[in-house]
Amino acid sequence: MSHRVDNFCSGPAALPTAVLEKAQAELLDWQGMGVSVMELSHRSQEFQAVCDTAEKNLRDLLGIPVNYRVLFLQGGATLQFSAIPLNLASAGQVADYIDTGIWSRKALAEGKRYCAARVAASADASGYTSVPPESQWQLSDKAAYVHITPNETIGGVEFDWIPETGDVPLVADLSSTILSRPLDVSRFGLIYAGAQKNIGPSGLTVVIVREDLLDRAQGVTPTLLSYRTQADNGSMYNTPPTLAIYLAGLVFEWLREQGGLSAMAEINRRKAARLYAYIDESDFYNNPIEVSSRSWMNIPFTLADDQLNGRFLNEAEESGLLNLQGHRSVGGMRASIYNAISEDAVGRLIGFMDEFARQVR
Ligand code: PMP
Repeated sequence: MSHRVDNFCSGPAALPTAVLEKAQAELLDWQGMGVSVMELSHRSQEFQAVCDTAEKNLRDLLGIPVNYRVLFLQGGATLQFSAIPLNLASAGQVADYIDTGIWSRKALAEGKRYCAARVAASADASGYTSVPPESQWQLSDKAAYVHITPNETIGGVEFDWIPETGDVPLVADLSSTILSRPLDVSRFGLIYAGAQKNIGPSGLTVVIVREDLLDRAQGVTPTLLSYRTQADNGSMYNTPPTLAIYLAGLVFEWLREQGGLSAMAEINRRKAARLYAYIDESDFYNNPIEVSSRSWMNIPFTLADDQLNGRFLNEAEESGLLNLQGHRSVGGMRASIYNAISEDAVGRLIGFMDEFARQVR
C-alpha cells in the first residue's frame, strides 16, 4: 500500500483508505462500462442507481423517516446559511439562532440578510467554552425556526442533547458531527452538512428536510436554492456533483460495513475520551471546554508555552501526524478525529504528545 499519514485536518478531512482504494480500482472502468463514473451522464440509469443507493444507505444509517427528503446539493454549508432563511422564513419574520461560536455566527449574519434573525442565547458569557443551557434560551413566540450548530468545528464545543422547540422547526448545521453516532432525525425540521468531514469529499452538501417545510420559500429565492425545486427534481435540477455523490455513497457503504452508527459511536466515544483524558492528566496540554460541551470530533488544545507551537507542528509532521494546527482565529492546536481516524491513530497522536512534552521539559 502507498504511504498514508495520520491526517487530523478539520476538512477536507481524511477519508477511509478502503474507500479511496475502491475508487482507485474502478476509476478507469466503472462497473465494466469502460468509462469512469465521472464520465457518466447524470441522467443515465447507471448514475441514477448510484444516487439512489447512496440515498438509501444514508437513510438506513440515520433512520431517516419517510416524510423527510434527502437532497444532494452544492455550495457547501455556507450556501445553506442563505438557503435556510430564504426557504423557511418570510422576509421580516423572526428566526432564533443559538450562538455557540464562529460557525453559528456566520449562519446568523447571513440569516439577517433575509429575515429578522436574532440571537436567542449565546455562549459569549462562558467565553465560548460551553453550550448555553436550554433554560437560558429566550426563544421568540413565532419564530420561523430555531438554528443550532450542534458541533462548532473551530471552538470544539458540542451539544450533548437535542433541544425541544415544539412546533417551531429545529434547524441544525451538522457539518462536523453528522454520522459520528446515531441521531433522532425526527426531532429536526432540517439538517444540513457540508460533506468534507464525515460524508465524503468537498463539493457536496447534504440537506435532510421535512416535507411540510418545502413550500415556505420567499418569492425571490433563486430557483436552484429552492428546496421544493430540488426535491421535485431528485437534486438534479442542474448537473449535480457526480463524483462527490459517488464517493459519499462509498463512505456510506463503508460505514455500514463497520457496523453502522452505533458501532461508530462506540469507537468515537473511546477516541475522544482517550485524548481528553490524556490532555486533562497532563500539565503541559490544556483544553478549556466544559466537560459536557466537549466535541467528539474536533479537539482543540494549547501547549503550556505558545513559543513551542512551531516546533510541535514540525515534529508532529516528521512523525506522520499532519494538520494539527488550530484555526487561525483561535491559535493553538486542534485534532479533528472524524470517522476515518482510527483508534490507533489517536494512540499515535497521544504517544507523540507525551514524548514531545517530556523532551521540552
Ligand atoms: N459549518 C460548520 C460547522 C463547518 O465546520 C463549516 C466548514 N468547516 C462550515 C459550516 C462551512 O462549510 P462549507 O465550507 O462547506 O461552506
